[in-house]
Amino acid sequence: MPTATELEQVLRGASLRVTRPRVAVLSAVYAHPHADTDAIVGIVRDDLGEVSTQAVYDVLRALTSAGLLRRIEPAGSVARYESRVADNHHHVVCRSCGSIADVDCAVGDTPCLIASDDHGYLIDEAEVVYWGLCPGCSTTRS
Ligand SMILES: [Zn+2]
Ligand SMILES: [Zn+2]
Repeated sequence: MPTATELEQVLRGASLRVTRPRVAVLSAVYAHPHADTDAIVGIVRDDLGEVSTQAVYDVLRALTSAGLLRRIEPAGSVARYESRVADNHHHVVCRSCGSIADVDCAVGDTPCLIASDDHGYLIDEAEVVYWGLCPGCSTTRS
C-alpha cells in the first residue's frame, strides 16, 4: 500500500493537482482493487467525512483519464476501478456472486495485444474476461 505522500507523488507525476478527495479515492482503489463506485464513495466518506457522490465520480473520471486508474465493466456488472494499470491483465468473474480476481496474460508480455489481424487499428488494450464460479460458490453448489 503506498503512503499518502507516495499517492501525492503519483498525482503530481500525472500533472494532476493534489486534492484530499483525489488522494482519498486513489488510496481507496489501491486498498480495494475492483471496488465499484458505491464502495469507493463509502470508503472515501469514512476517510474524509462528507463528500458528494458526484465529487467521487468526477475524481474517478479524472484519475481514469489520466491513466492512474483502470475502469473495468464486466457484462452485467457496474463499473469497477483498479490501480493496476498498463499491464493489460485480465479478469475472472464469478457468475454467481460477481467477485473478480486478476489473471495475468497466459503467455508472457501482453501477447493478447497482438491481434492476428488488427484491421489497421492502433490497439492499446485487449479485454479478456473469464467467467465461471469462484471457489466459494462452486463448493456451495456441489
Ligand atoms: Zn462466487
Ligand atoms: Zn484487475
